[in-house]
Amino acid sequence: MGLSVGIDLGTSNSTAAVYRRGKVESIPIEGKKVLPSVVSYKDNGQILVGHSAKARLYIDPQNTVSSSKRFIGDSNKQYHIHNKALTPVDIAQEILKKIKTEASKYLGEEVKDAVITIPAYFTDEQREATKKAGELAGFNVLRLLSEPTAAAIAYGLDKERNQTIMVYDLGGGTFDVSILKVEGNSFEVEAVDGDSLLGGDDFDEKIMNYLLSNVSNGASANQMSPGSLSMQRLKEAAEEAKKELSESDFTDISIPDIFGTHIDEEVDVETFNKMIQPLLERTINKINEVLEEADLTKRDISRVILVGGSTRMRAVQEAVTQNIKKPYIADNVDEIVAQGAAIMAANLSAPSIDTAPVPIEVKDVTAHSLGIGFLSENDEYRVVHLIKRNTVLPCTGAEMGFTRYPNQKNVRMAVYRTNDTIPLDEHLLGELVLSVTPKEEPVSVVALFELDNSGVLTFSSAELSPDSALFREYSQTEVINLRALKEMIENKELKIKQATIDTNKQEA
Ligand code: ADP
Ligand code: MG
Repeated sequence: MGLSVGIDLGTSNSTAAVYRRGKVESIPIEGKKVLPSVVSYKDNGQILVGHSAKARLYIDPQNTVSSSKRFIGDSNKQYHIHNKALTPVDIAQEILKKIKTEASKYLGEEVKDAVITIPAYFTDEQREATKKAGELAGFNVLRLLSEPTAAAIAYGLDKERNQTIMVYDLGGGTFDVSILKVEGNSFEVEAVDGDSLLGGDDFDEKIMNYLLSNVSNGASANQMSPGSLSMQRLKEAAEEAKKELSESDFTDISIPDIFGTHIDEEVDVETFNKMIQPLLERTINKINEVLEEADLTKRDISRVILVGGSTRMRAVQEAVTQNIKKPYIADNVDEIVAQGAAIMAANLSAPSIDTAPVPIEVKDVTAHSLGIGFLSENDEYRVVHLIKRNTVLPCTGAEMGFTRYPNQKNVRMAVYRTNDTIPLDEHLLGELVLSVTPKEEPVSVVALFELDNSGVLTFSSAELSPDSALFREYSQTEVINLRALKEMIENKELKIKQATIDTNKQEA
């Protein structure tokens, strides 16, 4: 059996790692530690991935794609490149193919097996799409692993056990905060939250706006348009300055010949920290939300781990120290997720216990609540949750309902994925229509959700006779006896109608 790798398929950058000879090591790609998640399609048909593609963001923005992870799993998203419609899965596939080739070259053997990481709050569609991209790239995807779990695994191996860990991951375009319980070799995600529209890019933008406010007179509307060459140059200079300010107390930004002038500004770290204060506050608010969600206070957190390139900013580290506690900062914040994935991959593919690292057990939680649209007594249509977010997978949930009208023949149950109770079409996953015996009096209907490890939902529903024990028990307690219900289904005592909710819409 060959080596297996761990891959962090990031919004801005991707990295890969391997566990071999009892150690985890990062795999360089084209000699560099991180591969920009950028793909560029040249006129001659050549496809560039990584640094060379990123350089083409300037000269060929039409045919160069960055940050496509933001849209993975979105069936409507298309990139129109050289008269071809490409999907985010196509882009991810190119990045993964590049990693596969480079990793195989570096390791001296063909790499097939991989664990690919995903943000903890990715939806089923996003998970499916990521897995598909991996398979299209020629990988055998051993499993998808949530990024915070991967980080905790990489960190937890040589650290003390039995702790509650908070992972603060601030990358290029996204912010994730997660709370994990680590007990022995078992990693359990307790709560996840995040902001998919907050990351290093927003910090760059603060500097860009600062510089622009000083030159706006000279710039034409065209030059200021988001995709323009000048704006790209400004963005690159801003990002460089930001990185410099992680090391030094001030930085010089000079961009010749831009917006009809020259930019030559010194920015000190205090000015920068003031600009980014609102962004830092947003991350701290999220932390407090997630603590509340997990029913914890900051005193319950044994460790905070910082992950992601943006946690190199000193102001981020200080904000976490002030509001939670002094974080653990690995010197390889960019590589830690891929390294955890590599450890997991070695575990899953190890032929024997001798060659495997410490065995690891990973429990994931649902990132989103799942429910059914119900008409309430006062005719309000609302989502009733059968499975609440942050429940450990696999999990089940059930609910009982009644027909509304005399002689009703069908009950239509719409499935929503939302943490809210307002049913919106964009959160509709599918529906199940159950035929029931038309009766004068209300007929009771039971619905069961079973969510497996990979997030696939099996929805079972049946009419329930008023003299069934299950119904009598429910009438008294308003709680469904899940065990009894599952037994009845197994023993075929109910006329069950079942649906597997198609959570993989982009494959249509
Ligand atoms: P992702 O996981 O979203 O792909 P990364 O973890 O690679 O992203 O983080 C990329 C972000 O980190 C970029 O916005 C980049 O500017 C930022 N970054 C990288 N190095 C530094 C640094 N030294 N100081 C501040 N920000 C940095
Ligand atoms: Mg990341």
